[in-house]
Amino acid sequence: MIKRRLFITLFISIFHICALDRAYYSVNRIISFLKLDTEFNNINSALLIKKLDKTVYISNFTNYVIIGGEKFFLNDFVTSEMGQFFIPVDGAIEILKYFSKDNYLFYLSEGDLVFDDGENVKNAVEKNEFPPDDLFEKKSTYKDDKVKKIRAIIIDPGHGGKDPGSVGYNGLKEKDVVLSTALILQKKIKDKYPDKTIIMTRDRDVFIPLEERANIANRTYEKLGETIFISIHVNSSRSSKSYGFETWHLNADYKRDILNKESISDDKSVANIVNAMMIEEIYKESKELAKNIQDKLEERIGYVSKNRGIKEEKYFVIKKSVMPAVLVEIGFNSNKYEAIRLTNYSYLNKIAAGIFDGLIKFISDYEKTKGFTE
Ligand SMILES: [Zn+2]
Repeated sequence: MIKRRLFITLFISIFHICALDRAYYSVNRIISFLKLDTEFNNINSALLIKKLDKTVYISNFTNYVIIGGEKFFLNDFVTSEMGQFFIPVDGAIEILKYFSKDNYLFYLSEGDLVFDDGENVKNAVEKNEFPPDDLFEKKSTYKDDKVKKIRAIIIDPGHGGKDPGSVGYNGLKEKDVVLSTALILQKKIKDKYPDKTIIMTRDRDVFIPLEERANIANRTYEKLGETIFISIHVNSSRSSKSYGFETWHLNADYKRDILNKESISDDKSVANIVNAMMIEEIYKESKELAKNIQDKLEERIGYVSKNRGIKEEKYFVIKKSVMPAVLVEIGFNSNKYEAIRLTNYSYLNKIAAGIFDGLIKFISDYEKTKGFTE
């Protein structure tokens, strides 16, 4: 018995890094315990750890790790000290579960992570030495207990302040129509999702540069994790006959340029693999979100306006952002009849409801399928 206790205590001291005030675990310890292979990419400081066909990517200063191709968000950022990665406890547990066989058990004891092949833990629990139940992680159930949630929604009413956007029939300004619509949408989302963070890039008539809108999006993503970006605009055309609504998302050919050029090299580096995976995922998600919004707008305003479909765009508000993002053109203010509709509160309410319905569908599908992985 003395031997067993010594064994467990040893593990606790190996994994717990006392120098950091929050619970971090050494990635190197995990690697050596599970005998994993590694590749390190200097360009973007990304570490690939693998065993057979299982892979995990860890990058410094990020709040997620990519486990088996899926992003797992951490309670805190990955950090490094003396050339070694340290990862928050929740990430360490996920990685251990992912790589270990079914008979490994993990549990937290007074904030410390302990794991072994089952026998030690079983004995300890039987002798009432460790708290069972909720502090006790059962078998390796990586897929089952994983929750993917949208944490934040950013609503971006286009233009504002000195930039009126398009000016249409009877002097109707795009910036005013999109702000009214965005404020209605904000209220709907807040009521439906009190647990999600809703951010407006502007909530009054002020000028916000495109760069700053992108910064708001990226900061939110870095701080909170999974984020959705919805930009609202009004269309205009030289032809006063054009009318209708359309939803844009990023162009497929453009997607390779989303991430920092500096981090992409010509060889098949870890960076490329990680980036390609992330970009592909975002492209698919954006397209799905665009489709949902366009379909639901059709249901709400299709009886009077025209469904112009979903479209792909190269030059986008947040082309540097790593999150699903769409831009909705809610109508043409250059068309007399549409411009009149766009001054009507109940019509704007229908538009907001359409965007809202599409968003709800996206979020519900996303969270049900754990980020479209099932
Ligand atoms: Zn615009």
